[in-house]
Amino acid sequence: MEILVCVKRVPDTSENEISVAGDGKDIQRDDLVYSVNEWDNYAVEEAIQIVDRAGGNVTVVTVGGDDSEEILRREMAMGANNGILLKDDAFEGSDGKGIATILKAVAQKSKYDLILTGAQADAGAAQVGGMLAAMMDLPYASLVNKIEIIDDKKLKIGREIEGGNQEMNEINLPCVLSIQTGINEPRYVGIRGIRKVASVEIPTYGAGDLGLAASAVGVAGAKVKKIDYFVPVLGDGAEMLEGSNEEIIAKLIELLKAKGGLK
Ligand SMILES: Cc1cc2nc3c(=O)[nH]c(=O)nc-3n(C[C@H](O)[C@H](O)[C@H](O)COP(=O)(O)OP(=O)(O)OC[C@H]3O[C@@H](n4cnc5c(N)ncnc54)[C@H](O)[C@@H]3O)c2cc1C
Repeated sequence: MEILVCVKRVPDTSENEISVAGDGKDIQRDDLVYSVNEWDNYAVEEAIQIVDRAGGNVTVVTVGGDDSEEILRREMAMGANNGILLKDDAFEGSDGKGIATILKAVAQKSKYDLILTGAQADAGAAQVGGMLAAMMDLPYASLVNKIEIIDDKKLKIGREIEGGNQEMNEINLPCVLSIQTGINEPRYVGIRGIRKVASVEIPTYGAGDLGLAASAVGVAGAKVKKIDYFVPVLGDGAEMLEGSNEEIIAKLIELLKAKGGLK
């Protein structure tokens, strides 16, 4: 099975204090530590496990700058066979539709049986996977937390639905799936693995190579415009509980009892 996994370089929330930048248009990006989007890492692990069972290749692709090469190499050290970097000044400022347009162009350069994205990334839009599927006219399932191969034409997939319930579906290949965390346990990537792929060539494609008009992507193609970023003011009645976990739990139980939420 030929599998394409879309991966994004994002600020690592376990390593950074995230704050809003002075101009209110973005987060403060100076000195941030970046890593691969957590959901995408699960997607790559799942793709590697599928190829271990069914044969084939895993290709990881990202839309980003030179810095994004580092996450492609990390995922290749994990076991992905190939990496592709999509880089062009024209891609900067792309909205979700722009990113999906770029990914569609590279997906159509080869024949993939399965395309995986993360369920969401740092901007939290959760739109790229669904848009990519719609643009490619492929079947799509979101929040996938289980994949079984039925045959070379069909997969059985599980989806996490409201209230912790589970849904099972059959889906035709080729298809696009957005992967939920917890679907597997991503393997550890050691420094030896990273060194092994350090000099592997990673092809880079720009708008021209992908046959994309600059007006379809980037700021020029964006139809959604970010106009403000801010931390909401605490509303009346909102209360931040402080202290150790035990102290917070005790205060929360006290509050819930006082307000009739707990008997
Ligand atoms: C006007 C405008 C300007 C913007 N300018 C920038 C900018 O300059 N730089 C910037 O980084 N962002 C920019 N963004 C945000 C960027 O467009 C979003 O990151 C993008 O829409 C994806 O949204 P998300 O992170 O919520 O992804 P989601 O839709 O939540 O992501 C789902 C999945 O899609 C895939 N995916 C998402 N992004 C990528 C990617 N880049 N490469 C490969 N796979 C991907 C991953 O598999 C991911 O798990 C801008 C947005 C707008 C509206």
